[in-house]
Amino acid sequence: METKDILKQLREREGLTQEELAEKLFLTRQAVSRWETGETQPGIDLLKQLSTLFQVSVNTLLGQPRTLICQCCGMPLHDDGTISREPDGSLNEDYCKWCYADGKFVYQSLDELLDFLAEHMANESFPPEEARAYFARQLPELAHWKNKV
Ligand SMILES: [Zn+2]
Repeated sequence: METKDILKQLREREGLTQEELAEKLFLTRQAVSRWETGETQPGIDLLKQLSTLFQVSVNTLLGQPRTLICQCCGMPLHDDGTISREPDGSLNEDYCKWCYADGKFVYQSLDELLDFLAEHMANESFPPEEARAYFARQLPELAHWKNKV
């Protein structure tokens, strides 16, 4: 789906008229109308405001051009409901809600996260020590750990 259709769908889901959405964003109704006809596209600041308002990621507003990955634990964020939030309610698309909450990171060190993953991701064919070794290779590549390990 294209941004224009996504914006229209979200606005209707919230039961807002173009006028009402425009008011929330301090814009004219014409500006909202132009997004929905595809004549213009909201800039990044407006996309962020729309993301907070509709509680969907900017990535979703753009038609999901990329797969978001938690930069702490490596989990793909296919569903906007798994994305973390800042204390002000805006979405932080870099992290999942299990790694980052209330403005704080849950894991203070890579070892702490590896212990958790080894325990919870292991199964019969993927024993804890192998799970730990696997994640110990993958996670240092993620932005959150890159400069710390
Ligand atoms: Zn995570």
